[in-house]
Amino acid sequence: MKQCTAGALSFLNVVFKKREILIKATDMFSNYDFTVAERFMRYVQTDTQSDPHSTSFPSTEKQKNLSRILVKELREMGIADAGLDEHGYVYATLLSVTGRKTPVICFCAHVDTSPDCAGEGVKPLMHVNYDGRDIVLPDDPGQVIRSTEHPYLLRKTGEDLITASGTTLLGADDKAGIAVIMDMVHFFVTHPQVEHGAIKILFTPDEEVGRGVDKVDLKKLGADFAYTLDAGERGVFEDETFSADSVTVTFNGISAHPGYAKDKLVNAIKAASAFIESLPKHGLSPETTEGREGFVHPVHINGIAEKVSMEFIVRDFNTAKLKEYETLLQEKVNETLQKFPGVTAVFEVKEQYRNMKEVLDKYPQVSRYAIEAIQRAGVQPVLSSARGGTDGSRLSFMGLPCPNIFTGEMAFHGKHEYVSVQDMQKSVETIVHLAMIWEERG
Ligand SMILES: [Zn+2]
Repeated sequence: MKQCTAGALSFLNVVFKKREILIKATDMFSNYDFTVAERFMRYVQTDTQSDPHSTSFPSTEKQKNLSRILVKELREMGIADAGLDEHGYVYATLLSVTGRKTPVICFCAHVDTSPDCAGEGVKPLMHVNYDGRDIVLPDDPGQVIRSTEHPYLLRKTGEDLITASGTTLLGADDKAGIAVIMDMVHFFVTHPQVEHGAIKILFTPDEEVGRGVDKVDLKKLGADFAYTLDAGERGVFEDETFSADSVTVTFNGISAHPGYAKDKLVNAIKAASAFIESLPKHGLSPETTEGREGFVHPVHINGIAEKVSMEFIVRDFNTAKLKEYETLLQEKVNETLQKFPGVTAVFEVKEQYRNMKEVLDKYPQVSRYAIEAIQRAGVQPVLSSARGGTDGSRLSFMGLPCPNIFTGEMAFHGKHEYVSVQDMQKSVETIVHLAMIWEERG
C-alpha cells in the first residue's frame, strides 16, 4: 500500500513536471517577436541558383552573395567567429551560456536553390490570414496553387502564407531553413537567460546539385551531432533516407555495313530495347512505388548499333535489397544475351549513398531529443522517411549523425512553392527547445 502511494506520488510528480515544462515552453515564445518571416522575405530575393553543369566550387559564385549577408547579420548579432570560406561554406558558433561541457550540436541548411526553375528576380508575396482558396499568382495568372494538387494547403487556412509571384520558384527550399536557424540565433542572443550549450551553424552551397558536403571541413566545424533544417510539413522529422547505388549496363554488338551485313551485324540497340522491355512493369519503378518500396530506374540511355550504354539508379531503405535488385538486373542481362548471340555485356555497380538510419540507430538520443523538442513546441511529431538522399545522409556517414527537421517548405523546385509563416515559427521553437534539451541532458 505504502509502495503503491509512493509510486502514485512519483507518477504525479512526473505529470506535474511535464506540465511545468510545457507551460514554460509555451510561455517562452508568447512575447517573442519572431524575425523568421521578415528574414525569409529578404533572403529569397538574392538569387542563389546552383548549376549542375558547372565544374567550379561552389557551382555558382552568386551563392556567396547570400552567404555574405548571413555572415554580416550573424556578426551584427554578436557571433564573432562567423565567417565564409573560399568554397562558400558559412561556419559560426553560438557559445555555451552555461560553460558546462555538453555535446556540441550543429544546425545546417543550404543556401542554393534548385536549377529546375528560374531563381532570379523572386518577388515574395505574403498572403496574410490565408482564406483557403486556390492562389492565383499575379505575374502569370496561369500559375495557380490548387488545394486539389497540394492538399496540405487545406490545413493552412487562417495562417500567413508566402508564395512567389508566378514567374520563378520561391526558394523556401532551403531559405526557410536558413531563416529558421537565423531566428534561433536571434532568439538566443536576445534571451541570454535561456540555457544552451555550444551550437554550431553551418550554411552549405550546392546541395541541389548533390555536392553540398564535398568540401565541408568537419574538423573546423567541431560538432558532435547535427540536424538539417530542410523537411516540409509541420512536425515532420526524417531519420531515414534511401540507400542508393547506380548501375551501368553496356551492350557491345558487332557493326557491319548494312548493305552487306547478313549474318555479320549484331545490333546492340535491339538487345538494349529487349532488355529494357524485360524489366518489371507493375512494380519496382518510381512510377509504381511509394512509401517504403524501393525501385530500379533507367535514367539514361546512349548508343549506336555497335554499342549501347544504359544507366540505372537503384534505391531502397533496406541496403541489402539493393543487391537483390542488382541481381535481378544481372539476370535480365543474361537472358537478353541468350536471345542475342554475339552481344557481350559489361555490368558495373557504384555505391552512391546509404540510409542514414544505419548511423542514427547507434545514437538514439539524436532522434529522441528532436522528437521531444517538436512536442515541446506543441506540435505532433510526424516520423517520415526521405525517398531520396539528403546532405544529412552523407554527413552521417562522414561521422556527423544528422537527421532532418521540418521548416514548412512545400511544393519545392517549382513556381507553386509556398511556406507558412506559422510553420517556420514552430520550426524556430523546435530547434530552440532542441538546444535546451541537449543542455539539460548533458
Ligand atoms: Zn533542400
